Amino acid sequence: MALRTIREYGDPVLTKKAKPIKEMTPKIEALIRDMLETLYDSGGVGLAAPQVGMLKRLVVIDISEEQNEPHILINPEIIESDGEQKGMEGCLSVPGKSGMVTRPNHVKARALNEKMEPIEIEGVELMARAICHELDHLDGKVYVDLVEGELYDNDDLVPVEDEEDEAADMGQETEETNGEA
Ligand SMILES: [Zn+2]
Repeated sequence: MALRTIREYGDPVLTKKAKPIKEMTPKIEALIRDMLETLYDSGGVGLAAPQVGMLKRLVVIDISEEQNEPHILINPEIIESDGEQKGMEGCLSVPGKSGMVTRPNHVKARALNEKMEPIEIEGVELMARAICHELDHLDGKVYVDLVEGELYDNDDLVPVEDEEDEAADMGQETEETNGEA
């Protein structure tokens, strides 16, 4: 396993559409392992293959604090979404920043797992936000284009102690956004 370099906003790879994965290969297996390791090392909750420079339709998501509930989504597609949530969002490719983004509150997606078996994943709140955020990366979209108002420096954000559920950070954990202050 190895950590991969996370590409930052401004890198053209983040604006390109990723290609479907047709079959599992040792290379893709290694990519999945490396992406999980890179995600856990970064403290984020999701990572898409284009963020490590690979234009493949693959994302990994783990919103658990223990980093022991990995979801591996190959060729994912959102098949249902409803409701609305507003919250601060961040991205590993835009380090140290966050901004207000409106997302559906409930999302259901279809994908293949690492064995190329069809799966469905469903979530609300942070999970729904993470699915939307990571799937956007596969279409070359970065959340900064969806930010309502300013893109803040995390250092300037005032901690909000009793609003943990407002915190949704696909990127680096900070005291300000994850409520662990
Ligand atoms: Zn991101």
